[in-house]
Amino acid sequence: MLLFHIKLVVQKNRMGSTFNIGGTVMTLLLCFLLLSMVPKLEAELTTVEHAPNPDGSISFLVIGDWGRRGLYNQSQVALQMGRIGENMDIDFVVSTGDNIYDSGMKSIDDPAFQLSFTNIYTSPSLQKPWYSVLGNHDYRGDVEAQLSPVLKSIDSRWTCMRSFIVDAEIVELFFVDTTPFVDAYFLNPDGQTYDWSGVSPRESYLQTILTELEMGLRESRANWKIVVGHHAIKSASIHGNTKELESLLLPILEANKVDLYMNGHDHCLQHISTSQSPIQFLTSGGGSKAWRGYYNWTTPEDMKFFYDGQGFMSVKITRTEMGIAFYDVSGKILHKWDTSKMLDTDFYFPL
Ligand SMILES: [Zn+2]
Repeated sequence: MLLFHIKLVVQKNRMGSTFNIGGTVMTLLLCFLLLSMVPKLEAELTTVEHAPNPDGSISFLVIGDWGRRGLYNQSQVALQMGRIGENMDIDFVVSTGDNIYDSGMKSIDDPAFQLSFTNIYTSPSLQKPWYSVLGNHDYRGDVEAQLSPVLKSIDSRWTCMRSFIVDAEIVELFFVDTTPFVDAYFLNPDGQTYDWSGVSPRESYLQTILTELEMGLRESRANWKIVVGHHAIKSASIHGNTKELESLLLPILEANKVDLYMNGHDHCLQHISTSQSPIQFLTSGGGSKAWRGYYNWTTPEDMKFFYDGQGFMSVKITRTEMGIAFYDVSGKILHKWDTSKMLDTDFYFPL
């Protein structure tokens, strides 16, 4: 922005003004330096930089609800992820949470991490960064264990934070910790114990997430914006829509031109697109146990795809195009969807 202003000043003066260019530039630089010294009143989400490929493209897989020590077809899904990951030469994997069943990790020494992650996703193509959010089951153990840097020393692929950004230049992924949004876990925990370390007091925790997310989305210059959470905003499966996210999160996503919202929680694969929202709602929660046998959706024209079984999703993004695909446990493509968009600069500088 500063450079832009300086360019404008220089151009104006080339047109004959007697304005003092050097003095103006110095004044602007001084203002910039002073502004940069003012402490920031708002915190920012932690950002992980992930360099895109030389051609600017990014591709990744999305898996959720998986950590069951290989059982319930987790290993079979992992094998197919490896095969598709190799074909696509993926850059990373996104986990939509519920990483360790049934009750997260007991401590940072819990062998469940190796048994459900390191020893399962062994294909060469999956030896890439894994960017993960927490699910409600992860909150039932020592919630901070999965966030510990100790896990990265056990398996360097692992990056799990509560809410954070992965910046891959053409696309930014905003990971949101959705479990603390759900009232029922606090008001009616149904015999379950949740570890709310780092969350209390809840109201300010949630407000901070919403403020930081809104700021991050507003300031993003990426052509594509993706938000990842564990809980669905919209879902036809057993858990249904998450009303807290519909009221608190969705308006921020819509106001900031988010392209995709991706989640797990319901153990199925689904793609919902409504006429009321430009966002594609995608569930990838088929990492292991599935087949709930539940479906409740009243507007069939909005349900682009629903599959009750195990599987995963892929995303391929270029500067102007995006494509997603869903796969079953045998690696067969069940559903594909593509879109494209002009870059902002294409509008500003038409040829
Ligand atoms: Zn869940």
